[in-house]
Amino acid sequence: MQVATGKSVLNGIAIGKIKIYKAPKYVIDESIISDIDGEIIKLETAVKKAIARQNGLYNRALEVAEKESAEIFKAHAIMLEDEDLKDTVKEIITGQKRTAEYAVNMAFDNMAQVFEQMDDSYMQARSADILDIKQEVLDVLLGDDSDFMPESEPIILAAEDLTPSATVKLKESLLLGIITREGSMNSHTAILSRSMNLPTIIQCKEMDDSWDGKLGVIDGYNSLVYVEPNDELLASLTTKRKEDEKKIALLQELKGKENMTIDGTTIKVYANIGGPSDIGMVQANDAEGVGLFRSEFIYLNSKDYPTEDEQFAFYKLALESLSPKLVVIRTCDLGADKTAEYMDLGKEENPALGYRAIRICLTRTDFFKTQLRALLRASAYGNLAIMFPMIISVKELNEAKQLLETCREELEQEGVKVGNYQVGIMIETPAAVFCADELAEQCDFFSIGTNDLTQYMLAIDRQNAELEPWLDTHHPAVLKAIQMTIEAGHRHGIWVGICGELGADLSLTETFLRMGIDELSVNPQSVLPLRKVIREIDLTDQTER
Ligand code: PEP
Ligand code: MG
Repeated sequence: MQVATGKSVLNGIAIGKIKIYKAPKYVIDESIISDIDGEIIKLETAVKKAIARQNGLYNRALEVAEKESAEIFKAHAIMLEDEDLKDTVKEIITGQKRTAEYAVNMAFDNMAQVFEQMDDSYMQARSADILDIKQEVLDVLLGDDSDFMPESEPIILAAEDLTPSATVKLKESLLLGIITREGSMNSHTAILSRSMNLPTIIQCKEMDDSWDGKLGVIDGYNSLVYVEPNDELLASLTTKRKEDEKKIALLQELKGKENMTIDGTTIKVYANIGGPSDIGMVQANDAEGVGLFRSEFIYLNSKDYPTEDEQFAFYKLALESLSPKLVVIRTCDLGADKTAEYMDLGKEENPALGYRAIRICLTRTDFFKTQLRALLRASAYGNLAIMFPMIISVKELNEAKQLLETCREELEQEGVKVGNYQVGIMIETPAAVFCADELAEQCDFFSIGTNDLTQYMLAIDRQNAELEPWLDTHHPAVLKAIQMTIEAGHRHGIWVGICGELGADLSLTETFLRMGIDELSVNPQSVLPLRKVIREIDLTDQTER
């Protein structure tokens, strides 16, 4: 038995025969040609055909994946229609007197390299899309129209890397899981395999041609691949997979159903995400919206301050993909355990009580305004709510709102369209709970961050594992603080949600409903289990909510 490691894209188990896939490698004709017009016509015809094939893949993806994941093929078709890129290819054909395939290979490779060298991991991952469409044009030019996977038995596919086009061409019913040596969590291939619910391990460096035809197991929970597993391991992972299948089947029945109790009380169930690569999970788990987009992960995944345009691209992608669903984007909550080196935040005695979140934003206003401008620009593309973290006073809220207003005015003067948006705050400190009435007068919603609220109510460092015996998440003081927040919010006509981990604690769902909570935002995998519990609760013995 061999055990290999990698990065898991989706929790799940796949068991089956491994098939090594190798992308067709073309021999590019590098000779000098004389029939330039002929090559240009070949190029035009091939691009047209490649566009048609991408549109075909879009329809195929709609059958096997979520609509949002399928959109990548529309984006590919648009890239192929790009006149500048086509002109670059034509210039190589005419200027260097080369074949259409030589020019396509060179122009697309150069463009992919430009993306590859960008600092931002999301933009880097786009180079894979460029290489994908290059392969598609070469397939047409060099005549490879073969069926991608003429398999007759289900397999685990192992490849150096897989393009989104190759992934969706796979016959889903025959595909159990994917292993790649390369690949990134942000790639569209990863997004697609999540949305196709395929256990997938990327960056599996030990992958080897000798695996071809052997029995393999993907353990997505532990980011492991087993080749020729022993009987004991195989039996235990087979049992785990069967349990998963039962759970998935049961939960799929709840898809599309309302989050409504037996007595007819409805509540919104949203998902927490760390970035656009989690969008597929929001859709796959049927969340009604995003209750917490932790925007600081964009900063943490970056080597330097993310620019306004980079951030705009992320927010726009999330809003557009999920529209008309509400997406609550929390402004940068850095500091304490989340530090980016380039921010030079310095060491502190008590980081959890230190220079963090809104405190950084209100003192480094240029940095904050970059994010606010990106958010406001993105607001034109979907249903946005902007949420400020760690607020302790009305003064702070008003300062943040004032900066937001200044940014809006600046953008409007620049002629940039700004859409509608809600403005709310996280309730994470006892100070916010006690000032909830005054704060509610100044915003559209509250979202209770029970992770920090518990830490500050109980004076227990959430990072210190040794303090866990004292960390009573059901402590009456925490529950009372939640109740007080909900009541204050409702007195002023605003909605109140919970986006901390406690929102997914199913033993408290009824308690929260009885308190009158309007929304619970939980990790995507908890959405359907939460819906199941909500639908089993009866609040009829209670006075009106
Ligand atoms: C919280 O504090 O409950 C919360 C949701 O924010 P984070 O966990 O990101 O601090
Ligand atoms: Mg918090």
